[in-house]
Amino acid sequence: MAQLTDDCFAFSGPLLRLDDMERLIGERITPVAESEHVPLHGSRGRVVAHDIRAPVDLPPFDNSAVDGYAVRHADLQLDGDTTLAVSGRLTAGARLRLTLKPGQAIRIFTGAAMPKGADTVFMQEDVTVKGEQVILPKGLKVGANLRLAGEDVASGAVVFPAGTVLEAQQIGLAAALGLTEIAVRRRLKVAVFSTGDEVVEPGSIRDGAAIYDSNRFLLTELLERLGATVTDLGILVDDPEKLSLKLREAAVGHDLIVTSGGVSTGEADYVRSAVERIGKLVFWRVAIKPGRPVALGVIPAASGHSAALVGLPGNPVAVFVTFVRVVKPLLRRLSGARPDRVVPLPVRVAFAYKKKKDRREYVRVALKRAADGEIEAVKHPQDGAGILTSLTETDGLLELLEDVTTIEPGARVGFLSYAALLG
Ligand code: AMP
Ligand code: MG
Repeated sequence: MAQLTDDCFAFSGPLLRLDDMERLIGERITPVAESEHVPLHGSRGRVVAHDIRAPVDLPPFDNSAVDGYAVRHADLQLDGDTTLAVSGRLTAGARLRLTLKPGQAIRIFTGAAMPKGADTVFMQEDVTVKGEQVILPKGLKVGANLRLAGEDVASGAVVFPAGTVLEAQQIGLAAALGLTEIAVRRRLKVAVFSTGDEVVEPGSIRDGAAIYDSNRFLLTELLERLGATVTDLGILVDDPEKLSLKLREAAVGHDLIVTSGGVSTGEADYVRSAVERIGKLVFWRVAIKPGRPVALGVIPAASGHSAALVGLPGNPVAVFVTFVRVVKPLLRRLSGARPDRVVPLPVRVAFAYKKKKDRREYVRVALKRAADGEIEAVKHPQDGAGILTSLTETDGLLELLEDVTTIEPGARVGFLSYAALLG
Protein backbone atom coordinates (compact mmCIF):
# COMPACT_ATOMS: atom_id res chain seq x y z
CA MET A 1 0.00 0.00 0.00
CA ALA A 2 2.92 2.33 0.56
CA GLN A 3 2.13 5.56 -1.25
CA LEU A 4 3.39 7.82 1.48
CA THR A 5 6.64 8.22 3.19
CA ASP A 6 6.72 8.91 6.89
CA ASP A 7 8.04 12.39 6.41
CA CYS A 8 5.74 13.24 3.56
CA PHE A 9 3.69 15.61 5.66
CA ALA A 10 6.56 17.23 7.41
CA PHE A 11 4.73 20.48 7.59
CA SER A 12 4.37 22.33 10.85
CA GLY A 13 2.87 25.72 10.09
CA PRO A 14 0.10 27.17 12.20
CA LEU A 15 -2.70 27.14 9.61
CA LEU A 16 -2.10 25.50 6.30
CA ARG A 17 -3.55 27.32 3.31
CA LEU A 18 -5.47 25.22 0.84
CA ASP A 19 -3.11 26.06 -2.04
CA ASP A 20 -0.15 24.91 0.02
CA MET A 21 -1.98 21.76 0.99
CA GLU A 22 -2.69 20.94 -2.65
CA ARG A 23 0.91 21.61 -3.59
CA LEU A 24 2.15 19.33 -0.81
CA ILE A 25 -0.20 16.59 -1.91
CA GLY A 26 1.11 16.87 -5.45
CA GLU A 27 4.73 16.85 -4.36
CA ARG A 28 4.80 14.28 -1.61
CA ILE A 29 2.21 11.65 -2.44
CA THR A 30 2.93 8.87 -4.84
CA PRO A 31 -0.02 7.37 -6.70
CA VAL A 32 -0.74 3.66 -6.50
CA ALA A 33 1.28 1.86 -9.13
CA GLU A 34 -0.82 -1.18 -9.99
CA SER A 35 -3.01 -1.16 -13.07
CA GLU A 36 -5.48 -3.48 -14.73
CA HIS A 37 -7.37 -3.72 -18.01
CA VAL A 38 -11.09 -3.07 -17.82
CA PRO A 39 -13.76 -3.32 -20.54
CA LEU A 40 -15.19 -0.01 -21.74
CA HIS A 41 -18.50 -0.64 -20.05
CA GLY A 42 -17.64 -0.38 -16.40
CA SER A 43 -14.66 1.93 -16.88
CA ARG A 44 -16.53 5.12 -15.95
CA GLY A 45 -14.76 6.92 -13.10
CA ARG A 46 -11.54 4.94 -13.54
CA VAL A 47 -8.16 6.61 -13.98
CA VAL A 48 -6.23 6.03 -17.21
CA ALA A 49 -2.92 4.38 -16.30
CA HIS A 50 -0.75 5.57 -19.20
CA ASP A 51 -1.19 7.72 -22.29
CA ILE A 52 -3.59 6.18 -24.77
CA ARG A 53 -3.03 6.87 -28.46
CA ALA A 54 -5.59 6.62 -31.21
CA PRO A 55 -5.07 3.38 -33.19
CA VAL A 56 -6.96 4.81 -36.20
CA ASP A 57 -8.01 8.11 -37.71
CA LEU A 58 -11.35 9.51 -36.63
CA PRO A 59 -13.31 9.73 -38.83
CA PRO A 60 -11.58 6.75 -40.45
CA PHE A 61 -12.28 8.02 -44.00
CA ASP A 62 -13.45 11.20 -45.78
CA ASN A 63 -17.24 11.24 -45.72
CA SER A 64 -20.23 13.42 -46.35
CA ALA A 65 -21.62 15.54 -43.52
CA VAL A 66 -25.03 15.91 -45.21
CA ASP A 67 -27.52 14.25 -47.51
CA GLY A 68 -26.87 15.72 -50.97
CA TYR A 69 -24.63 15.58 -54.02
CA ALA A 70 -20.89 15.01 -54.20
CA VAL A 71 -19.14 17.01 -56.88
CA ARG A 72 -15.79 18.13 -58.15
CA HIS A 73 -15.46 21.81 -57.32
CA ALA A 74 -13.53 22.48 -60.54
CA ASP A 75 -16.68 21.55 -62.52
CA LEU A 76 -18.71 24.39 -61.03
CA GLN A 77 -19.52 27.66 -62.83
CA LEU A 78 -18.30 30.68 -60.91
CA ASP A 79 -20.99 33.06 -62.16
CA GLY A 80 -24.16 30.94 -62.35
CA ASP A 81 -25.89 27.57 -61.91
CA THR A 82 -24.14 24.37 -62.94
CA THR A 83 -26.01 21.37 -64.28
CA LEU A 84 -24.41 17.95 -63.76
CA ALA A 85 -25.52 14.41 -64.58
CA VAL A 86 -26.15 12.21 -61.54
CA SER A 87 -24.10 9.09 -62.15
CA GLY A 88 -24.42 7.05 -58.96
CA ARG A 89 -25.69 6.75 -55.42
CA LEU A 90 -23.78 6.22 -52.16
CA THR A 91 -25.54 5.51 -48.88
CA ALA A 92 -23.77 5.30 -45.49
CA GLY A 93 -22.08 1.93 -45.27
CA ALA A 94 -22.19 1.33 -49.06
CA ARG A 95 -19.11 -0.66 -50.00
CA LEU A 96 -19.17 0.59 -53.64
CA ARG A 97 -15.94 2.16 -54.85
CA LEU A 98 -17.32 4.83 -57.17
CA THR A 99 -15.18 7.34 -59.01
CA LEU A 100 -16.60 10.72 -59.90
CA LYS A 101 -15.88 11.61 -63.51
CA PRO A 102 -15.69 15.23 -64.72
CA GLY A 103 -19.13 16.71 -65.38
CA GLN A 104 -20.91 14.32 -63.05
CA ALA A 105 -22.39 14.38 -59.56
CA ILE A 106 -23.02 11.47 -57.21
CA ARG A 107 -26.05 11.28 -54.94
CA ILE A 108 -24.60 10.87 -51.43
CA PHE A 109 -25.98 10.48 -47.91
CA THR A 110 -24.63 11.49 -44.48
CA GLY A 111 -21.76 9.26 -43.38
CA ALA A 112 -21.15 7.71 -46.82
CA ALA A 113 -17.50 7.57 -47.91
CA MET A 114 -16.65 10.23 -50.45
CA PRO A 115 -16.26 8.90 -53.97
CA LYS A 116 -12.83 9.23 -55.52
CA GLY A 117 -12.44 12.54 -57.33
CA ALA A 118 -15.14 14.39 -55.37
CA ASP A 119 -14.12 17.23 -53.06
CA THR A 120 -17.34 19.10 -52.21
CA VAL A 121 -20.92 18.20 -51.24
CA PHE A 122 -24.09 20.20 -51.91
CA MET A 123 -26.90 19.85 -49.39
CA GLN A 124 -30.00 18.39 -51.05
CA GLU A 125 -32.02 21.38 -49.80
CA ASP A 126 -29.88 23.72 -51.91
CA VAL A 127 -30.21 22.01 -55.31
CA THR A 128 -32.88 21.37 -57.95
CA VAL A 129 -33.27 17.86 -59.33
CA LYS A 130 -34.40 17.51 -62.97
CA GLY A 131 -34.73 13.87 -63.99
CA GLU A 132 -31.22 12.41 -64.06
CA GLN A 133 -29.63 15.82 -63.60
CA VAL A 134 -29.01 18.14 -60.72
CA ILE A 135 -28.81 21.94 -60.90
CA LEU A 136 -26.36 23.45 -58.44
CA PRO A 137 -26.25 27.11 -57.36
CA LYS A 138 -23.03 29.11 -57.47
CA GLY A 139 -21.01 30.16 -54.46
CA LEU A 140 -20.30 26.96 -52.52
CA LYS A 141 -16.74 26.74 -51.22
CA VAL A 142 -14.46 23.86 -52.05
CA GLY A 143 -14.53 21.19 -49.33
CA ALA A 144 -17.99 22.20 -48.09
CA ASN A 145 -20.03 19.63 -46.15
CA LEU A 146 -17.16 17.22 -46.02
CA ARG A 147 -15.71 15.45 -42.97
CA LEU A 148 -12.07 14.66 -43.47
CA ALA A 149 -10.35 11.51 -42.26
CA GLY A 150 -8.59 12.26 -38.96
CA GLU A 151 -10.12 15.72 -38.52
CA ASP A 152 -11.45 14.68 -35.10
CA VAL A 153 -8.49 12.56 -33.99
CA ALA A 154 -5.40 11.77 -36.04
CA SER A 155 -4.12 8.21 -35.79
CA GLY A 156 -1.30 8.09 -33.23
CA ALA A 157 -2.40 11.19 -31.29
CA VAL A 158 -2.75 10.97 -27.50
CA VAL A 159 -6.47 10.99 -26.81
CA PHE A 160 -6.37 10.23 -23.09
CA PRO A 161 -3.28 11.35 -21.23
CA ALA A 162 -2.37 9.28 -18.16
CA GLY A 163 -4.45 10.48 -15.23
CA THR A 164 -7.60 11.16 -17.24
CA VAL A 165 -10.72 10.19 -15.31
CA LEU A 166 -13.00 8.36 -17.72
CA GLU A 167 -16.43 9.82 -18.16
CA ALA A 168 -19.22 8.93 -20.57
CA GLN A 169 -17.71 11.21 -23.23
CA GLN A 170 -14.30 9.55 -23.05
CA ILE A 171 -15.84 6.09 -23.20
CA GLY A 172 -17.84 7.09 -26.28
CA LEU A 173 -14.66 8.34 -27.95
CA ALA A 174 -12.75 5.19 -27.00
CA ALA A 175 -15.46 3.08 -28.63
CA ALA A 176 -15.37 5.24 -31.78
CA LEU A 177 -11.65 4.48 -31.99
CA GLY A 178 -12.39 0.77 -31.84
CA LEU A 179 -10.95 0.23 -28.36
CA THR A 180 -12.58 -2.47 -26.25
CA GLU A 181 -10.68 -2.13 -22.99
CA ILE A 182 -8.54 0.43 -21.21
CA ALA A 183 -5.60 0.12 -18.83
CA VAL A 184 -6.55 1.90 -15.62
CA ARG A 185 -5.03 2.21 -12.18
CA ARG A 186 -6.47 -0.07 -9.58
CA ARG A 187 -9.23 1.23 -7.38
CA LEU A 188 -8.24 2.80 -4.08
CA LYS A 189 -9.15 0.89 -0.95
CA VAL A 190 -10.49 3.20 1.68
CA ALA A 191 -11.59 2.38 5.22
CA VAL A 192 -14.20 4.61 6.84
CA PHE A 193 -15.28 4.93 10.42
CA SER A 194 -17.12 7.31 12.67
CA THR A 195 -16.10 8.12 16.22
CA GLY A 196 -17.98 9.25 19.25
CA ASP A 197 -19.68 7.75 22.30
CA GLU A 198 -22.83 9.63 21.32
CA VAL A 199 -22.99 8.21 17.78
CA VAL A 200 -25.20 5.17 17.11
CA GLU A 201 -26.23 3.19 14.04
CA PRO A 202 -29.38 4.41 12.27
CA GLY A 203 -32.20 2.01 13.13
CA SER A 204 -30.71 1.00 16.46
CA ILE A 205 -32.14 1.88 19.84
CA ARG A 206 -31.20 5.43 20.67
CA ASP A 207 -31.21 6.88 24.14
CA GLY A 208 -31.66 10.55 24.91
CA ALA A 209 -28.00 11.46 24.56
CA ALA A 210 -27.30 9.67 21.30
CA ILE A 211 -27.46 10.76 17.67
CA TYR A 212 -27.65 8.59 14.58
CA ASP A 213 -24.47 8.33 12.56
CA SER A 214 -24.62 10.54 9.50
CA ASN A 215 -20.98 11.00 8.51
CA ARG A 216 -20.15 7.41 7.68
CA PHE A 217 -23.01 7.26 5.21
CA LEU A 218 -22.16 10.63 3.73
CA LEU A 219 -18.48 9.70 3.38
CA THR A 220 -19.13 6.27 1.91
CA GLU A 221 -21.23 7.77 -0.87
CA LEU A 222 -18.72 10.53 -1.56
CA LEU A 223 -15.85 8.05 -1.71
CA GLU A 224 -17.67 5.58 -3.93
CA ARG A 225 -18.63 8.38 -6.31
CA LEU A 226 -14.93 9.01 -6.74
CA GLY A 227 -14.29 5.37 -7.59
CA ALA A 228 -12.93 4.09 -4.27
CA THR A 229 -13.75 0.71 -2.78
CA VAL A 230 -14.96 1.41 0.73
CA THR A 231 -14.67 -0.78 3.79
CA ASP A 232 -17.14 0.24 6.47
CA LEU A 233 -15.53 -0.10 9.88
CA GLY A 234 -18.52 1.16 11.83
CA ILE A 235 -18.57 3.45 14.83
CA LEU A 236 -15.72 3.59 17.33
CA VAL A 237 -16.14 4.69 20.90
CA ASP A 238 -14.01 7.48 22.33
CA ASP A 239 -11.36 5.18 23.77
CA PRO A 240 -7.71 5.71 22.86
CA GLU A 241 -6.78 2.02 23.16
CA LYS A 242 -9.59 0.79 20.96
CA LEU A 243 -9.04 3.58 18.44
CA SER A 244 -5.35 2.77 18.15
CA LEU A 245 -6.07 -0.89 17.66
CA LYS A 246 -8.65 -0.23 14.96
CA LEU A 247 -6.45 2.24 13.13
CA ARG A 248 -3.57 -0.23 13.13
CA GLU A 249 -5.83 -2.94 11.75
CA ALA A 250 -7.28 -0.62 9.12
CA ALA A 251 -3.82 0.37 7.88
CA VAL A 252 -3.40 -3.18 6.60
CA GLY A 253 -4.97 -3.57 3.18
CA HIS A 254 -6.11 0.03 2.79
CA ASP A 255 -4.57 2.98 1.01
CA LEU A 256 -6.46 5.52 3.03
CA ILE A 257 -8.40 5.68 6.28
CA VAL A 258 -11.04 8.38 6.66
CA THR A 259 -12.50 9.09 10.08
CA SER A 260 -14.84 11.74 11.36
CA GLY A 261 -15.03 13.30 14.80
CA GLY A 262 -12.46 13.40 17.54
CA VAL A 263 -9.87 15.67 15.95
CA SER A 264 -10.47 19.04 17.51
CA THR A 265 -9.01 20.14 20.79
CA GLY A 266 -11.66 18.71 23.12
CA GLU A 267 -10.61 16.29 25.82
CA ALA A 268 -12.41 13.41 24.14
CA ASP A 269 -10.70 13.97 20.81
CA TYR A 270 -8.77 10.75 20.69
CA VAL A 271 -8.22 10.23 16.98
CA ARG A 272 -5.42 12.70 16.97
CA SER A 273 -3.62 11.19 19.96
CA ALA A 274 -4.12 7.66 18.65
CA VAL A 275 -2.47 8.59 15.38
CA GLU A 276 0.36 10.29 17.20
CA ARG A 277 0.86 7.14 19.23
CA ILE A 278 0.91 4.55 16.46
CA GLY A 279 1.87 6.55 13.42
CA LYS A 280 2.97 9.95 12.38
CA LEU A 281 0.63 12.88 12.55
CA VAL A 282 0.95 16.38 11.37
CA PHE A 283 -2.08 18.10 12.69
CA TRP A 284 -3.29 20.12 9.82
CA ARG A 285 -5.15 23.09 11.05
CA VAL A 286 -6.23 23.87 7.55
CA ALA A 287 -7.23 27.46 6.85
CA ILE A 288 -10.76 26.55 5.84
CA LYS A 289 -14.23 27.21 7.22
CA PRO A 290 -16.19 25.17 7.99
CA GLY A 291 -13.76 22.45 9.00
CA ARG A 292 -10.57 23.90 10.36
CA PRO A 293 -9.53 20.82 12.37
CA VAL A 294 -8.43 18.26 9.79
CA ALA A 295 -5.84 15.73 10.83
CA LEU A 296 -3.61 14.15 8.28
CA GLY A 297 -1.18 11.40 9.03
CA VAL A 298 0.41 8.11 8.14
CA ILE A 299 -0.28 4.80 9.88
CA PRO A 300 2.34 2.12 9.34
CA ALA A 301 1.16 -1.36 8.40
CA ALA A 302 3.23 -4.52 8.06
CA SER A 303 6.44 -4.79 6.01
CA GLY A 304 7.11 -1.15 5.37
CA HIS A 305 3.68 -0.36 3.97
CA SER A 306 1.60 2.44 5.32
CA ALA A 307 -1.84 3.96 4.92
CA ALA A 308 -2.70 7.62 4.78
CA LEU A 309 -5.16 8.88 7.32
CA VAL A 310 -7.48 11.85 7.14
CA GLY A 311 -9.29 12.68 10.35
CA LEU A 312 -12.20 14.94 9.48
CA PRO A 313 -14.16 17.05 11.93
CA GLY A 314 -17.38 15.68 13.42
CA ASN A 315 -19.95 18.16 12.21
CA PRO A 316 -21.52 16.86 9.00
CA VAL A 317 -21.25 20.11 7.02
CA ALA A 318 -17.60 20.39 7.97
CA VAL A 319 -17.21 16.76 6.84
CA PHE A 320 -18.71 17.61 3.47
CA VAL A 321 -16.63 20.72 2.88
CA THR A 322 -13.36 19.20 4.02
CA PHE A 323 -14.10 16.13 1.96
CA VAL A 324 -14.41 18.07 -1.28
CA ARG A 325 -11.51 20.37 -0.49
CA VAL A 326 -9.06 18.07 1.33
CA VAL A 327 -9.95 14.40 0.85
CA LYS A 328 -10.80 14.70 -2.82
CA PRO A 329 -7.47 16.18 -3.94
CA LEU A 330 -5.66 13.60 -1.82
CA LEU A 331 -7.74 10.78 -3.23
CA ARG A 332 -7.23 11.96 -6.80
CA ARG A 333 -3.50 12.15 -6.29
CA LEU A 334 -3.35 8.69 -4.71
CA SER A 335 -5.46 7.26 -7.52
CA GLY A 336 -3.16 8.69 -10.19
CA ALA A 337 -5.76 11.17 -11.45
CA ARG A 338 -4.71 14.62 -12.58
CA PRO A 339 -5.72 17.49 -10.31
CA ASP A 340 -9.34 18.47 -10.54
CA ARG A 341 -10.13 21.48 -12.71
CA VAL A 342 -13.40 22.59 -11.23
CA VAL A 343 -13.66 26.29 -12.01
CA PRO A 344 -15.86 28.40 -9.73
CA LEU A 345 -18.35 30.29 -11.87
CA PRO A 346 -19.01 33.92 -10.92
CA VAL A 347 -22.55 34.51 -9.67
CA ARG A 348 -24.18 37.57 -8.17
CA VAL A 349 -24.55 37.43 -4.42
CA ALA A 350 -27.86 38.45 -2.80
CA PHE A 351 -26.53 39.02 0.72
CA ALA A 352 -23.87 40.76 2.77
CA TYR A 353 -21.21 38.68 4.47
CA LYS A 354 -18.18 39.15 6.69
CA LYS A 355 -15.33 36.73 7.15
CA LYS A 356 -11.87 36.48 8.65
CA LYS A 357 -8.89 37.16 6.47
CA ASP A 358 -6.42 34.40 5.59
CA ARG A 359 -8.80 31.51 5.48
CA ARG A 360 -10.98 30.18 2.73
CA GLU A 361 -14.62 30.06 3.50
CA TYR A 362 -17.43 28.13 1.88
CA VAL A 363 -21.01 29.39 2.10
CA ARG A 364 -23.96 27.15 1.28
CA VAL A 365 -26.20 28.87 -1.26
CA ALA A 366 -29.22 28.23 -3.43
CA LEU A 367 -29.40 29.74 -6.92
CA LYS A 368 -32.53 31.77 -7.61
CA ARG A 369 -33.61 33.97 -10.49
CA ALA A 370 -33.80 37.58 -9.33
CA ALA A 371 -36.46 40.10 -10.42
CA ASP A 372 -34.13 41.48 -13.12
CA GLY A 373 -33.73 38.00 -14.61
CA GLU A 374 -30.19 37.35 -13.42
CA ILE A 375 -29.19 34.31 -11.35
CA GLU A 376 -28.44 35.13 -7.73
CA ALA A 377 -26.87 33.16 -4.89
CA VAL A 378 -29.00 33.14 -1.75
CA LYS A 379 -27.42 32.04 1.53
CA HIS A 380 -29.09 29.29 3.50
CA PRO A 381 -30.69 30.84 6.60
CA GLN A 382 -28.93 28.42 8.94
CA ASP A 383 -25.17 28.28 8.67
CA GLY A 384 -24.17 26.06 11.59
CA ALA A 385 -21.70 23.30 10.70
CA GLY A 386 -24.12 20.72 12.04
CA ILE A 387 -27.15 21.80 9.96
CA LEU A 388 -27.59 18.98 7.47
CA THR A 389 -30.53 20.62 5.69
CA SER A 390 -28.21 23.48 4.75
CA LEU A 391 -26.66 20.94 2.37
CA THR A 392 -29.88 19.38 1.10
CA GLU A 393 -31.68 22.67 0.48
CA THR A 394 -28.91 24.41 -1.45
CA ASP A 395 -27.24 24.03 -4.84
CA GLY A 396 -23.60 24.50 -4.01
CA LEU A 397 -20.88 26.46 -2.25
CA LEU A 398 -19.68 30.00 -2.70
CA GLU A 399 -15.94 30.14 -2.40
CA LEU A 400 -14.67 33.19 -0.52
CA LEU A 401 -10.93 33.43 -0.97
CA GLU A 402 -8.34 34.10 1.71
CA ASP A 403 -7.91 37.81 1.11
CA VAL A 404 -11.65 38.58 1.13
CA THR A 405 -13.14 40.03 4.33
CA THR A 406 -16.50 41.47 3.26
CA ILE A 407 -19.02 40.74 0.57
CA GLU A 408 -21.68 43.25 -0.35
CA PRO A 409 -24.95 42.35 -2.08
CA GLY A 410 -24.44 42.51 -5.85
CA ALA A 411 -20.82 41.33 -5.69
CA ARG A 412 -19.74 38.49 -7.95
CA VAL A 413 -18.32 35.46 -6.21
CA GLY A 414 -17.17 32.06 -7.44
CA PHE A 415 -19.86 29.39 -7.15
CA LEU A 416 -19.14 25.66 -7.12
CA SER A 417 -22.16 23.45 -7.75
CA TYR A 418 -22.49 20.24 -5.79
CA ALA A 419 -22.61 18.40 -9.11
CA ALA A 420 -19.22 19.84 -10.08
CA LEU A 421 -17.71 19.27 -6.65
CA LEU A 422 -18.75 15.64 -6.43
CA GLY A 423 -17.78 14.65 -9.98
P1 AMP B 1 -16.32 16.05 17.55
O1 AMP B 1 -15.37 16.64 16.56
O2 AMP B 1 -16.10 14.59 17.75
O3 AMP B 1 -16.30 16.82 18.82
O4 AMP B 1 -17.76 16.22 16.91
C1 AMP B 1 -18.32 17.48 16.64
C2 AMP B 1 -19.82 17.38 16.49
O5 AMP B 1 -20.14 16.51 15.40
C3 AMP B 1 -20.52 16.80 17.68
O6 AMP B 1 -21.75 17.49 17.88
C4 AMP B 1 -20.79 15.36 17.29
O7 AMP B 1 -21.88 14.82 17.96
C5 AMP B 1 -21.04 15.50 15.83
N1 AMP B 1 -20.73 14.22 15.14
C6 AMP B 1 -19.61 13.53 15.31
N2 AMP B 1 -19.63 12.40 14.57
C7 AMP B 1 -20.82 12.40 13.93
C8 AMP B 1 -21.44 11.49 13.01
N3 AMP B 1 -20.82 10.39 12.61
N4 AMP B 1 -22.65 11.80 12.53
C9 AMP B 1 -23.26 12.95 12.92
N5 AMP B 1 -22.73 13.84 13.77
C10 AMP B 1 -21.52 13.58 14.28
MG1 MG C 1 -16.54 13.16 19.09
